Amino acid sequence: MSLRTDAVNHVSHGHVNSPDIKGAKITGVFGESVFTLKTAREYLSEEAYKSLSASVKGGKKIDRQVAGQIASGMRAWAESKGVTHYTHWFQPLTGSTAEKHDSFFTLKGDGTAIEEFEGAALIQQEPDASSFPNGGLRATFEARGYSAWDPSSPPFIIEIGNGKTLCIPTIFIAYTGESLDYKAPLMKAVESLNKAAVTVCNYFDKNVTKVTPTLGWEQEYFVIDEALVNARPDLVQCGRTVFGFTPAKGQQLEDHYFGSIPERVYAFMRDFENESYKLGIPLRTRHNEVAPAQFECAPIFEEVNIAVDHNILLMDVMTRVAKRHHLVVLLHEKPFAGINGSGKHNNWSLATDTGVNLLAPGKTPKTNLMFLTFFVNTIKAVHDYADILRASIASASNDFRLGANEAPPAIISVFVGEYLTKVLNDVESRVGTKFDEQDEAILKIDLHRSIPELLIDNTDRNRTSPFAFTGNKFEFRAVGSTANCALPMTVLNTIVADTLNKFAAEVDALIEKGDKKEIAIMQVIQKYIVSSKKILFEGDGYSEAWHKEAEKRGLPNLKTTPVALDAMVTEKAKKVFLDNRIYTHSELEARHEIELEKYIKKVQIEARVMGDLATNHIIPAAIKYQNELLKNVSLLREAALPEKLYKGQLTLLKDVSTHIQQVYENVHAMVEERKVANNLTDTRAKAIAYEAKVKAQYFDTIRYHVDKLEQLVDDELWTLPKYRELLFLR
Ligand code: ADP
Ligand code: MG
Repeated sequence: MSLRTDAVNHVSHGHVNSPDIKGAKITGVFGESVFTLKTAREYLSEEAYKSLSASVKGGKKIDRQVAGQIASGMRAWAESKGVTHYTHWFQPLTGSTAEKHDSFFTLKGDGTAIEEFEGAALIQQEPDASSFPNGGLRATFEARGYSAWDPSSPPFIIEIGNGKTLCIPTIFIAYTGESLDYKAPLMKAVESLNKAAVTVCNYFDKNVTKVTPTLGWEQEYFVIDEALVNARPDLVQCGRTVFGFTPAKGQQLEDHYFGSIPERVYAFMRDFENESYKLGIPLRTRHNEVAPAQFECAPIFEEVNIAVDHNILLMDVMTRVAKRHHLVVLLHEKPFAGINGSGKHNNWSLATDTGVNLLAPGKTPKTNLMFLTFFVNTIKAVHDYADILRASIASASNDFRLGANEAPPAIISVFVGEYLTKVLNDVESRVGTKFDEQDEAILKIDLHRSIPELLIDNTDRNRTSPFAFTGNKFEFRAVGSTANCALPMTVLNTIVADTLNKFAAEVDALIEKGDKKEIAIMQVIQKYIVSSKKILFEGDGYSEAWHKEAEKRGLPNLKTTPVALDAMVTEKAKKVFLDNRIYTHSELEARHEIELEKYIKKVQIEARVMGDLATNHIIPAAIKYQNELLKNVSLLREAALPEKLYKGQLTLLKDVSTHIQQVYENVHAMVEERKVANNLTDTRAKAIAYEAKVKAQYFDTIRYHVDKLEQLVDDELWTLPKYRELLFLR
């Protein structure tokens, strides 16, 4: 029996593994595995609690002596929950998370066994980091890396089986201060944005002292039976199918979307949601997505720093919990050709410490003007730095969405809806006519009334936009489903901070010249609308017409990662990141190098897997069938039957033989191109060679012939689970 038939049989006997979830209420378990400030109050002295709380809320430094007290309190809490080990938890540039577990258990000098957790161990550790990517940073500076406690993200307990580990969120930096992870730059960007946004807010409201970017992500994923996945080496090694003919019943019927969730998947969802609640991840929605076997979950939005940690943690939890249900979660952007891919929409807004959402249209002329200010500044930021934003979401796997014929496209544009387009046009149409104090028409635009309209406007059209305004937030839709949101959020927060700083400088200059504040603000808003107009697009981002129009407007359409990444190291990029103290030039260059290397490795692995599958699965199965046909034809010939009675077999034989030969030749040629690419020493040149010479030239061609064979070869001989099995068997 082949692995495929074995797997298919296994699925039909698969049963639902309903999680044993005690109590119906989410509030009963929410945050129970998190060392929240509330928990801290129970376990810490007054002094230690105050110090921790000041650090969480206001970014104040915690001194070493108090850190010792906090560490003891954390250990007491963790031990009360059965925890034996702790780890610094961080987000290296590999894209996953890293941990190194140490036990609380230790031996004193005299050999006595005790459990302890010292302040020093809480604050800083030196993981053996030599194998984390550093893009040459550590080599250049001969520095080691260390992880440093980030008190703004609360510690939590991870349960694997019966083992429990206390995880301390940390940033990961080189001794020279360069960041080696995704979190440190994000925190810097959050701080830059805070400063810039508070300055601008204070034009309208002096009470605002803090502005925090908020993030609500929507995670799309596929769920496939574990046995079927194990029978597909491409899914196991690449997270996507490199071959597979799209079945008759694909997603044309769209009957999966908002349909009922299959029971087995539903049990899995409840299970991972429950684990997530314990970790304080505020999941709110779950539903089917457009493609068969595709689903989505989304939380209530949070401060961006926490939301990023929660998303990374959730991906981990989902992957682990799926095993209990004999399922596999595919987070890849394009696991299956011919049906929708997966994204991770990043809903983003700005919240003040006075409780105002700066991207929610206001009720009064004054709050309207504040809304318009932040709204237009965001558009201007995306316009000015669209290339960097595009680079921030570039990856080998996301190329299958952005670079292919899918929505959203690789062209960055902004959708704002009909009403706000009109508002922007109104403001723009007054170019040349100076606003004066009597001219209150603009200030009085009733934006609030437009909200229902905005929601109505939330149609399919804006779903094709990579960056859409959706009533009270922007939605960055081009982010890939595997991505760490930290990178796009670092870029978005940085470019908006930069734009707001420039905005404030221009407004101040006008005020100095004698303009009234509101009038000065209106002048600059108007100028920004004019200069960033070409980024606005309300049509179908998926259409060929838009690709032509975008080209005319001069908007870049970079479909592949190796060239999209160039934007990270331009003079413009270096300046904006340095000005806002996010990345130094060497940090940027290191990151550029790391992303290119990741790209090369991914394509390299896929090319190898393709070659292996073609050689070990496809061609052998096709040859068996070819032999059967041959035998059949020669027997028919022996029986002296007229050839017209087996023309079909002859055609089949010819087709099968042609495709076998094509697969063979192309795999061979692809291997040769890989060798050529491997000999290139420049990383960018190598990445481009892998893209243009290996991937673009051979992947689709090989797949075409393999998928043809899948349609021709006897089903019994085919060893790889087919799409109809992967996608429709539950
Ligand atoms: P949909 O986009 O499906 O219509 P919602 O508009 O309710 O759904 O929200 C989608 C996501 O946007 C959710 O994850 C939600 O938490 C997030 N979101 C809502 N408001 C904000 C905000 N002010 N800042 C950041 N994210 C937000
Ligand atoms: Mg959405």
